Amino acid sequence: MLEEIYFQVDERAKIAVKIGSKVRKILSDFLLERGFVEIAPVIISPITDPLAHPVFDGEINYYGNKYYLTKSMIFHKQLALLSLEKIFCFSPNIRLELKDLEKTGRHLAEFTQLDLEVRNASREDVMELAEDMLIHLFKKLREECKEELEILGREIKIPSKPFKRISFEEAYNKYGKDYEEMLSKEEKEPFWIIDFPKWKREFYDKEYEDRKGWLVDMDLIYPEGFGEALSGGEREYEYERIVRRMEEKSMNLQAFYAYLQIARIAKFYPSAGFGIGIERLIRYICGFEDIRYTTLFPKIPGKYCI
Ligand code: AMP
Ligand code: MG
Repeated sequence: MLEEIYFQVDERAKIAVKIGSKVRKILSDFLLERGFVEIAPVIISPITDPLAHPVFDGEINYYGNKYYLTKSMIFHKQLALLSLEKIFCFSPNIRLELKDLEKTGRHLAEFTQLDLEVRNASREDVMELAEDMLIHLFKKLREECKEELEILGREIKIPSKPFKRISFEEAYNKYGKDYEEMLSKEEKEPFWIIDFPKWKREFYDKEYEDRKGWLVDMDLIYPEGFGEALSGGEREYEYERIVRRMEEKSMNLQAFYAYLQIARIAKFYPSAGFGIGIERLIRYICGFEDIRYTTLFPKIPGKYCI
């Protein structure tokens, strides 16, 4: 029985977990210092991120009510901003990814996002925050995880601010559908891809007022071929616009009834934020080919894991 279940004891994971525990502390201290409040993760809810790619749903029936395991805290971040101005969460995400993603080295079915959101912020505000946060993290790690990084033979480069930006349109026109991978291999420092088209993303990223079909959002991409680090943007917060965007995607509005009622009656604040994948961040810091070594208990897509 045991041999059918994936379980690893690996030197790389041992080091990565030590680095990971520092990463969480440094990021958390950085955000608390900047006036953020940490909120507890939501694990089950009637609503969760619809995502822009197919996964299996984690469904739970409880007294006849349907709950979903959290795929991201996007909606709860908007709801939390009704009470607090700047929030973050180390949010466990369950995304039961398809087996095709088993060998990408970048996907797990269970991972953590450091998810944050700021009331009345612009995309530029949170992009600058992300840049400061990563520069601070890398500097601290060079001092505090010197030994671990030496064992891994990894030297972390400190990127310079502001990070380079390229629009989705420019990237796509130049490189075609593999734009992210090709740019990630070409670049030497983390860089931004901004302004995604509506069809690429979920309904909640804000559409430009004067540029229909394009979104005020961004991805941060690691260099050396490590790919996407984070996604974020400004959010749709007005009831009518949210409904229109959901209808454009032919979504079931009834399934989001409570969320929509709150948007209509309580009214959301304008906000911007992002979610950075912690295991992918650790993978980049450690220079691992495979994300499975960033954690003791990786859930590899399609595999039966402990
Ligand atoms: P998304 O909202 O889909 O862009 O996810 C936010 C961040 O979480 C991404 O930028 C990645 O860093 C990370 N992430 C998303 N999906 C996975 C996954 N299946 N395994 C590990 N990390 C992921
Ligand atoms: Mg993304």
